[in-house]
Amino acid sequence: MSVPELMRILLDDAGLGWDRAWDITRRTLAYTNHTLLPEALEKWPVESFDMLVPRNLEIIFEINRRLLDSVRSRFPNDEARVERVSLVEEGPVKHVRMANLAIVGSHSTNGVSAIHSELLRKKTVKDLAEMFPERFSNKTNGVTPRRWLLLANPPLARAITGAIGDAWITDLGELRRLSPLADDPTVRDGFRKAKRDAKCRFADWLKSSFDMTVDPDTVFDCQIKRIHEYKRQLLNALRIVVLYNRLRENPKLEMAPRTFFFSGKAAPAYRLAKLIIKFIDNLAGTIDGDPAMRGRLKVLFLPEYDVSLAERLIPASDVSNQISTAGYEATGTSNMKFMMNAALTIGTRDGATIEMAQEAGEENFFLFGLTAEEVASSRGWYDPHWHYNNEPETRAALDLIFSDHFSRYEPGIFGELRNALLTHGDYYMHLADLKSYVDADRRLLESYAAPENWTRKAILNVAGSGKFSSDRAIAEYATDIWKVKPCPVQ
Ligand SMILES: *Cc1c(COP(=O)(O)O)cnc(C)c1O
Repeated sequence: MSVPELMRILLDDAGLGWDRAWDITRRTLAYTNHTLLPEALEKWPVESFDMLVPRNLEIIFEINRRLLDSVRSRFPNDEARVERVSLVEEGPVKHVRMANLAIVGSHSTNGVSAIHSELLRKKTVKDLAEMFPERFSNKTNGVTPRRWLLLANPPLARAITGAIGDAWITDLGELRRLSPLADDPTVRDGFRKAKRDAKCRFADWLKSSFDMTVDPDTVFDCQIKRIHEYKRQLLNALRIVVLYNRLRENPKLEMAPRTFFFSGKAAPAYRLAKLIIKFIDNLAGTIDGDPAMRGRLKVLFLPEYDVSLAERLIPASDVSNQISTAGYEATGTSNMKFMMNAALTIGTRDGATIEMAQEAGEENFFLFGLTAEEVASSRGWYDPHWHYNNEPETRAALDLIFSDHFSRYEPGIFGELRNALLTHGDYYMHLADLKSYVDADRRLLESYAAPENWTRKAILNVAGSGKFSSDRAIAEYATDIWKVKPCPVQ
């Protein structure tokens, strides 16, 4: 909306000519794309524009006329391209394509992680990227280390400062100096004590605030983020059902005791996301009610997820779940918060998690599952029934859900989960990744069973997290896009 509105102000209020107004508008505005999901790549009916902001629509049509003239002269006899680039999508109901308008009316377009910027350029708005290649760039997101490490996790902050001094607070790249200390017994001890401390503090807070009991001697395994099918909280829940089935079948099975934490809100009208919350809550209740699971498995869904809860739980986490269907998470930022707080990541090659693993070394991550290319190229033939029919643990987990084991008093309420995962084709490919998730989970537990090895990985994760400071991200915007210099404060 800024493009046509700034044009309107410059043309109608300031009385400038079109070329001068267009030049100022383009040089003023820059566009950061934050997701490739259709629900956020907005398209608005031309009719609504005409009713609400008719002058802005007139300006959009004129921008479009000039744009399409230049497409036709640069790519003669390519009407298909003209149609794809157009700011107006044709059809029974015409729509304004807001992303196209933002790209055409600004001097810079960026995505928020390397893979996201690449998909934006090569897939989502390919034709516009071919027309204006110099406008496109990547700015990988970051989070502020003052809030997410210094304020949220004082014991770890002290351990880090004890090892390398406090320059990391304003220059997070300094954390690299931890790498050579990953085998230092004092540093390892500091990291282990800080984690233990944070887990106890969280357990105490949970007890006093919600009268919930968790055991700090169990592995704290977290997935906290908005509830969405692409983020695959349901895949995490299926992993837990597989582990639950293993323990039911073999009560003597050796497996580190674990506490699985979920938290997150769902959009009010997103009914399947609400049902996923209900499923996790029922899973937690069923496991709680099974005496054989006591001290072995526990699941909690914490209500009212917000930044304050994240600040408490992330420092206490051993394991960070970043398990989106590859190609769908633009960046993720909780992945970075966990990394700075010495949790290890089990995750897919998606968003900024790819760059995090590069920084820390893939051997210090637990990566699994289909890549974005594999997801895209199997769209045509992927069939979740294959996994149901050929993977005994996948089938047993789903059958247990469908048997109302987790919904004894409300039979049938999880029927929509069957539709999503099987009948309607499992769009987010949960079943394709379940087996490799459970395999990665086994590798993770093996590593956890060797504490020295685990702490070494944790230190190398923190050492590699320096790139994911918002200071670095903002400096890149300032230098490359805004062309502004730092203004030192006295
Ligand atoms: C960091 C944060 C997010 C983003 O989490 P993702 O896992 O990256 O989606 C969402 N909500 C809150 C409260 C956060 O602190």
